[in-house]
Amino acid sequence: MRAVRRFTVRAQLPRPLAALSTLATNLRWTWHPPTQDLFAEVDPQAWARVKGDPLRLLGEVSVERWNVLAEDDDFLARVAAAEDDLARYCDDDRWYQRRAGEIEGLPAGIGYFSMEFGVTEALPNYSGGLGVLAGDHLKAASDLGLPLVAVGLLYRAGYFGQALSRDGWQLEHYPVIDPRGLPLDLVTDPSGAPILVHVGMPRGRVLRAKIWRAQVGRIPLLLLDSDVEGNDPDLRGITDRLYGGDQDHRIKQEILAGVGGVRAVRAYCGLVGTTQPEVFHTNEGHAGFLGLERVRELVAGDGLDFDQALASVRAGTVFTTHTPVPAGIDRFPVDLVRHYFGDGHEQDLLPGVPTHRVLALGAEDNANMFNMANMGLRLAQRANGVSALHGEVSRKMFRGLWPGFDSAEVPITSVTNGVHGPTWSSREMIDLLGDPEQGVEHGEGAHGFEPVSDARLWELRSTLRGRLVDEVRRRVRAAWIERGAAELELDWTDSVFDPEILTIGFARRVPTYKRLTLMLRDQDRLRKLLLDPKRPVQLVVAGKSHPADDGGKALIQQIVRFADEADVRHRIVFLPDYDMSMARYLYWGCDVWLNNPLRPLEACGTSGMKSALNGGLNLSIRDGWWDEFYDGRNGWAIPTADGVTDPVRRDDLESQALYGLLESGVTPLFYERGTDGVPQRWMSMVRHTLAGLGSKVQASRMVREYVESCYLPAARAASAMRADGYQGARELAGYRARLQAAWPHIRIVDSTLTADGEPAPSLGTPATVRARVELGGLDPAEVDVQAVVGRADEAGELSDVVTRSMDHLGGVDYRAEVPLPHAGPSGYTVRVLPRHRLLSTPAEFGRVVLAD
Ligand SMILES: *Cc1c(COP(=O)(O)O)cnc(C)c1O
Repeated sequence: MRAVRRFTVRAQLPRPLAALSTLATNLRWTWHPPTQDLFAEVDPQAWARVKGDPLRLLGEVSVERWNVLAEDDDFLARVAAAEDDLARYCDDDRWYQRRAGEIEGLPAGIGYFSMEFGVTEALPNYSGGLGVLAGDHLKAASDLGLPLVAVGLLYRAGYFGQALSRDGWQLEHYPVIDPRGLPLDLVTDPSGAPILVHVGMPRGRVLRAKIWRAQVGRIPLLLLDSDVEGNDPDLRGITDRLYGGDQDHRIKQEILAGVGGVRAVRAYCGLVGTTQPEVFHTNEGHAGFLGLERVRELVAGDGLDFDQALASVRAGTVFTTHTPVPAGIDRFPVDLVRHYFGDGHEQDLLPGVPTHRVLALGAEDNANMFNMANMGLRLAQRANGVSALHGEVSRKMFRGLWPGFDSAEVPITSVTNGVHGPTWSSREMIDLLGDPEQGVEHGEGAHGFEPVSDARLWELRSTLRGRLVDEVRRRVRAAWIERGAAELELDWTDSVFDPEILTIGFARRVPTYKRLTLMLRDQDRLRKLLLDPKRPVQLVVAGKSHPADDGGKALIQQIVRFADEADVRHRIVFLPDYDMSMARYLYWGCDVWLNNPLRPLEACGTSGMKSALNGGLNLSIRDGWWDEFYDGRNGWAIPTADGVTDPVRRDDLESQALYGLLESGVTPLFYERGTDGVPQRWMSMVRHTLAGLGSKVQASRMVREYVESCYLPAARAASAMRADGYQGARELAGYRARLQAAWPHIRIVDSTLTADGEPAPSLGTPATVRARVELGGLDPAEVDVQAVVGRADEAGELSDVVTRSMDHLGGVDYRAEVPLPHAGPSGYTVRVLPRHRLLSTPAEFGRVVLAD
C-alpha cells in the first residue's frame, strides 16, 4: 500500500532525556564528534541505519531502549555534560566579542542572504558549491561568535537526486521533504500561531510564507516556505524546487527570498528581541531584491526620498559575486520585472519605490534584460569576488559599470573562499594533528603534527583510502542494482578498487567549463595509467548535471560508458548522486584531487581545499584558489594553454600536460617507497600541504576577512549615513545630485609636465604637473584633481601608474610633484574625481573626467 501523504511524528523522549532533542535539532552536532558519539551510543545499530542523523535516530529507538537509558546514570551524566557544553558554546564570548572589545564599530547584527544552504545532508537544501560555501560560512560565523542571522528558502524537493539509466544517462528524481521530519522549528508568535511574511503580487494578490528556523550552532537560519494554506496554488508552489522552473518561477523565488527575507528577519529579530542587522550580505545576485525592500522601509518609515534611502542601503550592503562566466549570471526580461514591480501605476510589492528606478538598477547592455549582478553591485557599496584571480576577472568583467576607470580601480575586491575545517577534516586527522583552527589565530598551519612520524601519517592516509574503497564498492553495487542489474552478476563489485593503489578523485557539478571528460581525451593513455602493472592509478568520478543541460548529461554518459568497460571497471568508477554524504569520503580518502577547469572560469573551487585538509595533494589547473595558494611543493599545477583560442587544441594541449604529470610526476612519487613501505617524498609533500594550507583554507579565515574588510567598514559607513536622522544619507544624496548636474561642465583646460626644467627627465627626479581645471560650479573641496604618471605604450595607454592629488593654487590652477616611477617610455594625464567623506572609493559613482 502507498500512503496518500507522508508525515513525521516527532519522538516523545522520557523527561530525563529531553536534552537529546535540543542536541539533535541544533546542527552543531554535524561538526561536533562528541555529540555524534553520544547519539551513536543511544543505539549503535539504529545509528548506522539512519546514517548518523540524530533526529531520525530519535524516531527509530524503541521505548524499551529509552527506558533503559533514562535509568542509566552514566549516560544521563553525559547527556547533561553535552547539553552544558552546547549552552556554553552558544553563550560564551568568542572571537567576535573579544574583537568588539578591541575595535569600535563592529556591527551588532549581520543578515546573510543566499538561495541555498548546504549545512548537512540531513537538511538537503543545496545544489553544490555555492550552498556548501554558505553552510560553511554559517558554521565558521558560529564558531567565531558573529551576531549573524541567515535567510533563504526551504525547498519541498531540495536539489534532485541523481541515478543512471542502463546506458549511462542521468535520471533525476525529486524526493519531497517533510519539514516536520527535519531539524527545523516553525517560527510562531507567543500564541503558537505561525508568523507569516506577506509579499504583494500583481493584481492585488498576496503571497504568504511561513518561516522555518534551523539552528546552526549560534546562528539562526530562517527558511521561507510558500506552502501555506490560503496561497493561490501557483504561489503555493514557489518554493517547490531549487533552480527548477521557468523565469517567472525563478523571479518569484527571488522576490520571496529578497523582499520576503528582509521581512522575515524583521519579524524574527523583533520576536526574539535581538538586534536588527546593520549590515546585509548578499551572497550572489539571486537575493539582491533585499536591497529594494530596505529602500522601501526607509522611504515609508523614515521619510527619506529614493536617493537618500539608496545611499543609506548601499552603505550597509556587501555583495559577493561568484561567477566569472557571463552565462552564469542571473538575468530576467525587463518586462517580467516590470510585471512584478509595477508598470508605473501604484503597485503592491514595494509601494513608494518607483519602477523606473528599480529597472535602472538592473540595467545592462541589452536594454531588454534586467541583470541581477549589476543590481547587486549598484545596491552595495562593497563588493567582492571569491579568490584573488576571480577578483581580477570580476573587475574586468564589470568595468563597464565604472566607465573611465582602469579595471584595477574598479571597486570589487576579493575574499578567498574557505572551508569549515571541523566539518571537512576527518576526525582521525584532527585527533592526530590537533585542531587546525588553532593555527588560524596565528596565521599558520597545523604544526601539532611535527612529532608525528611519516609512518603514522601514512598509516592514517591508508586508513582513509581504505574507507573510501569500502564506500566505493558499496555505492557501485547499489548503482548497478538501480541500473537494473541482478545481485548475481555483481560479484565483481567486491573487488572494485584496491586500498593500496594511488587514488585520484574528480567530483563537481558538470558545467562545460569544468571539463569532466578532459581525462578521456586520449583513452589509450588513460587506460595505460589505470592498468599499469607496477604503478596503477584508480579514479573516482562524480557529479550532477543541471537537469536542463543535455550537454552535461552527455559528458556524464561518456565517462560512465568508459567506466563500464570490462577491462577498466575495477579502476575507474562514476558514482551517482554526488552530495555531502558522498563528498566526505572522497575528500578523506583520495590521494590526489584533480581539477581541470578552463582557466579563468573557476571562481574559487573549494573541494580541493577539503582534500588538502586531509592530506590530499591537488593536481589542478592554476585557477581560482589554486592560482593563489599553489607554491610548487603542495601539489602540482597543470600547465594551461591560456592564449590558445581553438578550444580543441587547448583541450589537447592541457590533457597531454595532465597525462604527462600523472605519468612522470605523480605516480613515480607515490610508488617510491622506503624499506618501511612509506613513500618518503610523497609524505613530505603531504606534510607541506597540511602545514601550509591547513589554516589558509579555513572558512574561519574567510569569515574573519569578511568581518575586517567588509562588515566592519560597512557598519561604520551605514552608521555614518544614519547619524542625526539620516543626515549623512541626505548629504551624500545631495552631493550626488549636485555632481550629476555639474559633471558635464567639468573641463581640464590644459596641463603640462616638467622635470627640473629639463626636457629629458631621469628616473627618480620629481616631475611637476600643472593643470587648469574648470569645475562647473562645484567647490574645489568637492573634487579630487589628480596627476597620474606611468608607463605609456605606443597607443598612449598608461600602466603601472603613480597617482597624486594636486594642490589647488587658487582660481583654476592646480599643481603636484610626482616622482617619475619608471625609466623608458612614460606618460601622464590629469583627471577629476568626486571627493566626499562618505564615499568608499573615489571610483564609487563611476564618474571621472579625463584630460584629453
Ligand atoms: C565542496 C563541495 C562542492 C564544491 O566543490 P567545487 O570544488 O567548488 O566544485 C560541491 N558539492 C559538494 C557536495 C561539496 O561538498
